[in-house]
Parts: sequence; structure tokens; C-alpha cells
Amino acid sequence: MQAWQDPSIEEIRTKYQLFASENLEGDWRQRDADLEFSAQRWQQCADLGLFGLSMKKEYGGQELPYSHTIAALEGLCQGCHDTGFFFAMASQISGTQLALQALGSEDLKQKYLPALISGKHFTSLGFSELSAGSDIYSIETRATKTKGGYILEGKKAFITNSADATCCLVFAKTADNRSPFDFTAFMVDLDWEGVSHGEPFEKSSLRTCSLGQLHFNKVFVPEAHVIGSEGGGLAVIKVSIGWERILLMAVCLGPMSRVLETTVEQTKNRQQFGRPIGKFQHISGKIADMVLRRNMSRLVVYDLAGQLSKDDAVGKFLKEVAVTKLYVTENYIQFMLDATQIWGGRGVCKEWSIQQDMRDALSSTIWAGTSETLRNTIAKLEGVG
Ligand SMILES: Cc1cc2nc3c(=O)[nH]c(=O)nc-3n(C[C@H](O)[C@H](O)[C@H](O)COP(=O)(O)OP(=O)(O)OC[C@H]3O[C@@H](n4cnc5c(N)ncnc54)[C@H](O)[C@@H]3O)c2cc1C
Repeated sequence: MQAWQDPSIEEIRTKYQLFASENLEGDWRQRDADLEFSAQRWQQCADLGLFGLSMKKEYGGQELPYSHTIAALEGLCQGCHDTGFFFAMASQISGTQLALQALGSEDLKQKYLPALISGKHFTSLGFSELSAGSDIYSIETRATKTKGGYILEGKKAFITNSADATCCLVFAKTADNRSPFDFTAFMVDLDWEGVSHGEPFEKSSLRTCSLGQLHFNKVFVPEAHVIGSEGGGLAVIKVSIGWERILLMAVCLGPMSRVLETTVEQTKNRQQFGRPIGKFQHISGKIADMVLRRNMSRLVVYDLAGQLSKDDAVGKFLKEVAVTKLYVTENYIQFMLDATQIWGGRGVCKEWSIQQDMRDALSSTIWAGTSETLRNTIAKLEGVG
């Protein structure tokens, strides 16, 4: 039996799937059309304990294995079409909570983690800028040392949750060189003087969580809000992105299972040339490929989650997380392309849900490291390139 087939994992998946279909689904089409993030549903999920499943007990968590968080997120995505909403959740848990827990000071952990887990705080991860995407060393946001802290100046772009978040894990340059040690991570409250929101982006994918810009105009950040140490930003980004590349995979697995179920039904019910389209080998072959992609993706994600529950140091698994993210997201997109093809004209009409699943999948090979840069990383770690 594979880890993803374990009955205790299946139990969690089913529990969250049921919860999502009964409590979260609602009018998801309208939320997708309106770019609407649901704060009330967010609080419902926090009350259920979702944000603390694999966090330490001293901060309000339950210390369950990471596979439990993955199964919960996967179940939510199976039970409800609002993948953007679950992407926002997985981003908070992976990008900020786990990084803070691993590298933050005790004071920072006490200030933020219980509040994030209980839903009082809501966070975002601020690395990208308009001119700095894949090239992380080219960020221009600057933190200059002053008495008792730093003065933060710059503009972040493409930040998930930026419109609704109360705080942000911000990366800024603290030296002029272009080196792994010239940037630092800070926890910044978004109600501090000098913080403002730039124009949000209207994206086609994951529309129910915001993607926007955060501007920092001479914002004072107390020294105690440095995560790790000055110049230690690379260690923080490795943990943040490392966890994103694992937990965000749940948000690919769940939609695959949901779409597989409805697409199999469609191949049985839709008749052409006097028989169900599933009787045509070109169509049944696509279903087989979809099962293969979903199952193999589950295998790699749960296998890596199991390894990380034994050895928490995600930074040691750079190659494995890159391989997992690359494999799952590319299969996720191909899976949704096959499903769209099977649904024919219905696959691209708003009246059916498959077009939303296709749109949501499309950004997966871009966020948390593009496929091209992941290939660079994997090859480099093999000593090539
Ligand atoms: C839905 C979504 C959510 C996001 N959320 C966040 C967030 O919360 N916080 C945050 O900081 N950022 C976030 N991002 C930004 C994301 O991290 C960047 O989009 C990503 O790093 C790529 O940067 P870019 O878009 O500037 O593309 P670019 O870096 O300009 O890349 C453009 C193209 O060139 C390729 N390319 C670039 N360099 C190389 C190279 N060396 N070798 C080969 N090919 C290369 C890329 O793979 C890509 O195909 C999000 C993006 C999306 C789409």
C-alpha cells in the first residue's frame, strides 16, 4: 500500500471533502467571476483547525504529520471548486507559517503563529517585484539599518493574498552586492505607517485569491522582526519555497481527483455515433493517462511528505522538492488538457466547470518557481549546467 492510500489519510481526505462540499462550495462560479475572496469561509477553515494541523502544539497546532495537511487540502479541493481559495491557504501555511516556525525568533513565533492558526492574522509572501521574478538576486526593495531596526523601501508585485492579508514576510536587500548573503527576511504588519497597496492584477487563474502589489515607503521595521539573521534571507526563502513546492501540490491533486470523477461519468453518459464516447479508444486512453498522472503525482507528493515528517529540514531536500513540483504541475496541466478535450465544446464554456479547472492549472508551472528554473536547479544539483 502506498502512503496516499493509507486509511487514516483517506479518512482525513474524506472528512475535509465533505466539509468543503457542505460548507464552502456555495456559488463558486460567482466568486470566480467577481474575484471574490471569502473571509467568512477562511474563518470557518481556521475554526476547523486546518492551519494548525502540522504546526507545533505550543503555537496552537496539532503536530500531525505533513501528509495530514496535504490530505486535508486535497480533500477540500475535491469537495469544492474554489481552488484559488485553497491556494491562498496552502500559501499561508507553507510560505510563511512553516518558515516562521523553522527560523523565526521565539517572540515572532508567539506574536504571529497562534494568530495565523486561529484566523486572526492572514499573511502573504513578498519576494517578487516587477523587475525581479526568477532572478531572485535582482530584487530592489531595500532595508537600511537605523536605530533599533531598518527603514524598508520598495515595491513588491505578484503577491498572493496581498489585498486581504494583515502581514507579509518581506525580502529586502541589506547589502549592495549580488550574493546569496545580501538580502534579509522581515515580518511586516501591513497596517504599519508607510505601507500601501498598488494596483491589483486581474488574473485568469486562481481568481478568488488576490494577486497584488505592496508598496513600502520608508517603513520602520523593528530589529526584532528580522527572521533568522541579517543577510540570512536565502535560508528563509529556501524553507518558504521548499514548503510551497510540497504543500501547494495538494491544490493540484484535489482538482485532479474531482475532475477525474466527473470526466469518467461524462465518457459514460455522452453519446456520439450511437455509443458512449468512452467506447472510443482515443477517449478511454485519455482517461487511463489521467489516472496515471493523478496516481503518480500522489505517489511522489506523499512519499516526500513522509520523508519530511522524519527529517524536518526541508532545505536538505532541494532537489526532491524541485523534482516533485516540476513533475506534479506539468502532469496537472496535461491532465486538465485531456479533460478539456474529453468535454469537447463544454470544456471551454462557462456553464461547465472544466474551463475553470483548466485556468487554475495553467499558473502552476509559474508560481513557486517556473518549470524552466526548476529544470536548471535539478540539473545544477546533478552537477550539470
Ligand atoms: C498565481 C501566482 C501567484 C504568485 N504568488 C506569489 C507570491 O505570493 N509571492 C511572490 O513573491 N511571488 C509570487 N508569484 C510570482 C512568481 O514567483 C513569479 O511569477 C515567478 O517567479 C516567475 O517570475 P516572472 O513572472 O517575473 O517571470 P520571469 O522570471 O520574467 O520569466 C519569464 C520566462 O523566462 C523563463 N526564465 C527566466 N529565467 C530563466 C533561466 N535562467 N533559464 C530558463 N528560463 C528562464 C521563465 O521560466 C519564464 O518562462 C506568483 C505568481 C503567480 C502566477
